[in-house]
Amino acid sequence: MSDSLESLINTWIRPEIQAISSYHVPESAHLIKLDAMENPYVWEAEMQTAWLERLRGVTVNRYPDPGARAVKSALRPLMQVPENSGLILGNGSDELIQMLTLALALEGGKALLLAPEPSFVMYKMLAQVCGMKYLGVPLQAHDFTLNIEAMLSAIKTHQPALIFLAYPNNPTGNLFERSAVERIISAAPGLVVVDEAYCAFAEDTFMPALEQYPNLLVMRTLSKIGLAGLRLGLLAGHPAWLAQLEKTRLPYNINSLSQASVIFALEHYEQFLAQSAQIRSARSLVFRYLQDLPAVQAWHSQANFILFRVLDAPKTFAAIKAQGVLIKNLHGSHPLLDQCLRVTVGKPEENRAFLDALRHAL
Ligand SMILES: *Cc1c(COP(=O)(O)O)cnc(C)c1O
Repeated sequence: MSDSLESLINTWIRPEIQAISSYHVPESAHLIKLDAMENPYVWEAEMQTAWLERLRGVTVNRYPDPGARAVKSALRPLMQVPENSGLILGNGSDELIQMLTLALALEGGKALLLAPEPSFVMYKMLAQVCGMKYLGVPLQAHDFTLNIEAMLSAIKTHQPALIFLAYPNNPTGNLFERSAVERIISAAPGLVVVDEAYCAFAEDTFMPALEQYPNLLVMRTLSKIGLAGLRLGLLAGHPAWLAQLEKTRLPYNINSLSQASVIFALEHYEQFLAQSAQIRSARSLVFRYLQDLPAVQAWHSQANFILFRVLDAPKTFAAIKAQGVLIKNLHGSHPLLDQCLRVTVGKPEENRAFLDALRHAL
């Protein structure tokens, strides 16, 4: 890069943007992919044909329905959105996090986003990109539960505009104590978003609690149950909040192919639920196997992945990858994740390949 171009970039690109790295997705060709919490099952031929037939009717010369009304109507009953709650859709829930940070950022970066740590990395990244301050409050080191005293004290001191609680949490897999989450919602001066990306694999939800707390929003995504490629996230809550967020939403953020495909997929929702149930039972098998390995510490999960610690995570990760299985190395991403790896639960044969590779690696 020439000196003059570099100096132009330094002059005009915001320093916060220059300081961060872009979201990295590792190459996964020819590997068994257990790194990104995807549903491993592809659609059967008959369903594929019916889907393509449906897409034939989509008019791509026209803009999509800006409000994606048919998608919302299909989602409401399946996601058990309370009758009095509103719904806003995002191109993945990542985009909803972006809308929230855009709407809540104050001039001079004065508004604060607070989240426990380690948690989903996009909270911090989008806070920085959209001009909010960010504060991470460490979880308890031994079991990744909320440090409720530290959370309440940070809320009192820093008065966050926005709090994110992933329920269950990524990358730790646990569901925070419900009563602790309730205390945080009650103590928060601003919005609390309970991010239920892994709802299909968990035993609890805050969706019905929307009627109880005016400062609560509940976020879900279709990514983890089997539609990661379509990019559809939803945020439910009081219509007055959502009316403000609507102003930050790009008018046609859910494209026509996604709208038609999501509606089609939701007509087969029971299939996705059945697959989620299969993944939950596979999770128990993988967990028990990990627990029995002497050099491995694994944490209980209510999501479709398992966090575990080994003696040398970078070495174990590389050895597993060399055997054709891609998982996630979290070592170095946060002090509490020292020597930690995360594996997504896949099909039975993929899980077996992973466990064999791990055994050899150890
Ligand atoms: C994967 C994930 C998301 C983002 O999902 P989208 O694919 O953007 O809908 C949001 N929150 C958590 C906790 C996640 O793990």
